Amino acid sequence: MTELPAATVAAADFYDKHYAGADPIFLQPGMKLMLGSPERPRHCRFCGKDEPEVTFRDEAHALPAAFGNTGLFSNYECDACNHLFGEGIENHLGNWSKPMRTLSRIKGRNGVPTIKKPGPGQGWRLEHADGGFQLKEYEDDPFFEIDEEAKQVRFELHRDTYVPVAALKGLVKIGLTLIPDIETQHFRETFDWIRDTDHTRNFVAEFPVFRTFIRGPMRNDLIVLMLMRRRAGVDTVPYAFFTFAYGNEVLQVFLPSLSQDKCIDGVPLTLTPFPTPGAPYQAQHGHPSVKVENLTGREPVKGEKVPAVFGFESVAHRPPSQAEDGT
Ligand SMILES: [Zn+2]
Repeated sequence: MTELPAATVAAADFYDKHYAGADPIFLQPGMKLMLGSPERPRHCRFCGKDEPEVTFRDEAHALPAAFGNTGLFSNYECDACNHLFGEGIENHLGNWSKPMRTLSRIKGRNGVPTIKKPGPGQGWRLEHADGGFQLKEYEDDPFFEIDEEAKQVRFELHRDTYVPVAALKGLVKIGLTLIPDIETQHFRETFDWIRDTDHTRNFVAEFPVFRTFIRGPMRNDLIVLMLMRRRAGVDTVPYAFFTFAYGNEVLQVFLPSLSQDKCIDGVPLTLTPFPTPGAPYQAQHGHPSVKVENLTGREPVKGEKVPAVFGFESVAHRPPSQAEDGT
């Protein structure tokens, strides 16, 4: 038996004591899962309207296709809400998550996203093609730092402009899609908040999002989603969380319920992230790193830099005629 670090055991105990987890959804290619009853008339849990006042013609992704979701949909998101989210908060979530989706080789509708130097003219680019990453830079504008001794390439990607709290609403929207019907009564204000296009509105004081980064090559076609609800009789921790694992990243997102979270109002939260089920390449690449993300900013964030490191076995420079450095 492998011995788990004490912190992992303590975190597992914490969650076991305070929360009951629903069975996780393991989303893999070829799988189709429709959430909610197909019976008519349908009801939209996001705006609260029913057919025929609203329509349900489009496929409503339970999480955006950008994360590689081709199989998980819901029957309870109307076309109006689907478009509202698709043109709003899901774009912010898409921009925020794009560097990580590229680095994790997550295939969206148009394959793994390419990241290019912002602005006009030529510049560096990071592209996933032919089964590997291609890094391109120009001699007069070096971008990648290659450390042959450490066998690492270091660089800084940039994020397209996003509003943090809008990206956060995009994450919360995934969680609100996953909760069972019986729970929706506790999240009425939260549904209103994610539908509100005014991102300056106050909602809850503390909004923890834990982000765990698992180092090393990870599967790019497996998504694991799990809901956690506070156990009956416990009143010292937030009511609900959901965790969302894809590629090298695990996100744990608080799902605020104004009614159920009254008991922790004004109480500073001391939370420990849900332990990740172990990294397959821990010995080679090190322990997963955990960070608390603050996504409550209401102003657009422009030109944010995201540092990245690739390990490699060997390096091959393409001739300048091809203007590409392959690693
Ligand atoms: Zn709706």
